[in-house]
Amino acid sequence: MTHLSDETGEAMFIKLAGFDVGGGCHAFSTRSGGMPHGGKLEACLPRFLAAAGFPAGATPFPLRQVHGNQVHIVPPGARPTQDPAADGAVTARSGVILLVRTADCVPVLLMNAASGVVGVIHAGWRGALAGVVARTLEVMASLGASPSSTRAAIGPAIGPCCFQVGEEVAAPFARLSPALVKDQGPPWRLDLPGAVAHLLRQTGVPEEGIRRVAACTRCRTDLFFSHRGEQGLAGRLIAAITIA
Ligand SMILES: [Zn+2]
Repeated sequence: MTHLSDETGEAMFIKLAGFDVGGGCHAFSTRSGGMPHGGKLEACLPRFLAAAGFPAGATPFPLRQVHGNQVHIVPPGARPTQDPAADGAVTARSGVILLVRTADCVPVLLMNAASGVVGVIHAGWRGALAGVVARTLEVMASLGASPSSTRAAIGPAIGPCCFQVGEEVAAPFARLSPALVKDQGPPWRLDLPGAVAHLLRQTGVPEEGIRRVAACTRCRTDLFFSHRGEQGLAGRLIAAITIA
């Protein structure tokens, strides 16, 4: 992981070493590089993107995240539609920065160097159960990006140490894999980043292609925003990727 500090000495973002290839760029923001509670994305995004080494002049493409399974394709040529309601986005288009905002939910960045396709996922427990992970990989595959040659970076999210859930959440994840659910509840504790990794593997992304930022947003509110840890007053972390 690499970190670059802002003027206060706080790290603004995390990058996974070796994930960027062929001019592509990715980064997960920390609190310092993210969007403060009540802040505007337009106000904080340029500073984060510049610090993390995204190409100047590339167009950020935010989603209106709704905890569903819709995936938006940013097509080549056409002017991108702004702010579609979707929790996944995919593009083969250079000059476009895909991004999601999270505070406990799982951000996933997807890179397929062979086909020049990138993707991004916002996966909370609802979206994960609704199939947003598989759906995003299917849409990437429709653009020629095979899951077997796709690499995934899972960003900072609430960990199994902190994510207490009721039976309506624990039961479907336990059916996916019993190891994802801890404790004899209620309440149970869910390994949501682990569930996302499981869903990526299930869809054909190889184990060795999946990397994780191993940090819990709720344990580390000094570094990250946490919806649960900050009583709903959290800002949002930004996860962003571009093909070039
Ligand atoms: Zn934790």
